[in-house]
Amino acid sequence: MADSVGYSDTPVIPGGTWRVHDGDRPQPRVVTPGGDAGGPPSDAVVLFDGSDLDQWTGRDGGAAAWKVENGYMEVNGSGDISTRAHFGDCQLHLEWATPEEVAGDSQGRGNSGVFLLGLYEIQVLDSFNNRTYADGSAASIYGQYPPLVNASRGPGQWQSYDIVFEAPSWDGDRLVKGTHLTVLHNGIVAHHRQEAVGPTGHRDLANYDSPHAVTGPVQLQDHGNPVRYRNIWIRRLTAYDES
Ligand code: MG
Repeated sequence: MADSVGYSDTPVIPGGTWRVHDGDRPQPRVVTPGGDAGGPPSDAVVLFDGSDLDQWTGRDGGAAAWKVENGYMEVNGSGDISTRAHFGDCQLHLEWATPEEVAGDSQGRGNSGVFLLGLYEIQVLDSFNNRTYADGSAASIYGQYPPLVNASRGPGQWQSYDIVFEAPSWDGDRLVKGTHLTVLHNGIVAHHRQEAVGPTGHRDLANYDSPHAVTGPVQLQDHGNPVRYRNIWIRRLTAYDES
């Protein structure tokens, strides 16, 4: 049943007719991705090269405690992790894999996520033959926009995100420019300079009414599923100060 994966009591997303997490919203078209790519370019800040979590902090700013082995890190229930460095406009590359052994369904299957500024989530999920609400599928701007297509590889396979993030800007309390996201999933365009409605929410819509910092950490979500990450690098697109 379509409504078994979503909600019908949530707000309508502006500019359309779909509700947040609408169970009836059409599923993204499935596209099979091509080959591999993605080594760090010379000007990248390498956030994870497979060896350690020195660039990351865990819950409450303590040491990041995800498992590191065989060139990848793995979610282990110790909480979200965040980069020590902060970034504004940036290009981010990372690779991820959901568990080879499939468990759970909908939002409970291989759920993690990549948060830019610690606020805007690009969903990580096993979306290979796993129906969920479209705006919560892999490569969605969570709760706002499904990916243009479903470019998912199967469970256990390495997948890539290449994300171009443009931070919002305000003049006082007046929004000058909203957050814009371009996302490639396995090399396939999932979002083309899509403007976010606001920071990510769950069963609700955020907005830009409260200005927030225009730099922040990259945050990876611990949603209780043992999702793996490797080869994470980032390039600053403007000369924001680190903090
Ligand atoms: Mg998530």
